[in-house]
Formats: sequence, structure tokens, C-alpha cells
Amino acid sequence: MKWRRELREREVEAVNSLTSFISPYMPTAGTNDGWTWRASLDGKYITNSAYAVIKSRRSEQSNQIADASLMASVWQTLAPMKAVVNAWRLLRNRLPTCDNLRKRNINLGDEELECKQCYSHNESISHLFISCPKTQEVWNEIQNWIAIQTARPSWPDAHWESFSHCCKEKKIGKLLKSIWVGCCWLLWKKRNDKRFEGKDWESKSLVAELKARLWSWNKSFGSLNNEMEFTFWSSNDLISRIWSSHLALAPV
Ligand SMILES: [Zn+2]
Repeated sequence: MKWRRELREREVEAVNSLTSFISPYMPTAGTNDGWTWRASLDGKYITNSAYAVIKSRRSEQSNQIADASLMASVWQTLAPMKAVVNAWRLLRNRLPTCDNLRKRNINLGDEELECKQCYSHNESISHLFISCPKTQEVWNEIQNWIAIQTARPSWPDAHWESFSHCCKEKKIGKLLKSIWVGCCWLLWKKRNDKRFEGKDWESKSLVAELKARLWSWNKSFGSLNNEMEFTFWSSNDLISRIWSSHLALAPV
């Protein structure tokens, strides 16, 4: 696709999202458009398949109620809406990863299914955000930075809970939530850049960008003490240095 002017950052994201959504659809010359019932294999409506869809949605809704408080905590961050919505979709398993597109009966070739970061596994939400070797490097970098060791469950909602709820202190908790939400937003952004534009990325540069983004988000949403210097913020062992220097964060 060509554009008359250079796209702004939010426009690039919108284009990536649209490209991700329409890329599996291949128009066929000489074939008319028509309606397809996606809940059955042959695309034809049958009552049983409609019943199965309603039943699965009901069980999904009951799960939503069960973990409502965990989901609500996603909104308690420094991050802007676009990153928070990304985390919300991730925790709901609603991002258009290859496994999710396949669940919607979208045909993807073997090559399209594979993770474009490691080329050794198929892309799924848990692989992309947690277990991919490249993503593991990112979480290692973040653990070095904040100097808090947490368990790494292999499913995003358990990972979110383990990472962001490991400290009971409210201000630190808000900071950890912001780091997780910001990190997942950047991971999704880098995934799209790589998949649709072939752009490679490194874990160290992603974490450097995360530190800079969080720093600027703090200017808008305020949680860190204004006296904190960027070098203090971006150096390793952040949380323990905050404790030992008694450098308080701004009120939550
Ligand atoms: Zn991978």
C-alpha cells in the first residue's frame, strides 16, 4: 500500500491492525461474494452449530465474571489507552494472533502460522508474549532492570497476576502493572512490524524504548517522583534502589 504522506504512529498501528485482519482473505476472480456461516465447516447454517455458539459464549461470559477483579486492575496503570486496550485484548485472548485467526476458520499456510521471531514454533498468544525465546530475553532484561524475580506461568493472565501483583505496596504495584502493559504493547507492535514490514528488533532496544515510553507516559499520568532522574529510573535494580534511597513515588 502507498500513502500520499508519511503516516503518524497511530495511523501505522491502525494500518497494521487492518492488514492483520484482511491478510488471510484471498479474493478469487470470477467468484461472487456471499454469506458464510463460520460456525459450521461447510459454511451452511444448522441449528446445532448456533446452539454450540450460544453455549460457548455463555461459558465465556461466566469466566469473565470470575476474573473481573484481575481484569479491572489492567486499567490501574500509567499507560495510555491504546496500550491498556491491547493488554485487555491480550488477557481476553482477543488479539488476531495466528492461532486465533485459525479458530475463526481463516485459512493460513504453514509458513504464515509460524512465529516470525524464532521460526521454530507456531504463533499463539502464550508463545508470542511469554515463551518465545526472543520474548524470554525481553522478560529477562526487565527482571534485571527492576530486580524482582517472579514466576513465569505460561498463560498471559497468570503471568500478569504473578508479575503485577507480586508487591503489595500500591505505588510499586502500579509501576509493575504499567511495565507489563507497556511491554506487551511494544511486543505486539514489534510483532506487527516484523510480520508486515520485515523489521527486526532486539530485546535490549525494546526494553530501552519501554523505559523511555514509561518515562514520558509518567509526564502525562504522573506516578513517579518528579525529583527522580532518568538515569536513576533506567538503571538496573530499580525497585531495590527506590526502597533503599527512600525515593518515594508520587501519590497514587
Ligand atoms: Zn517464537
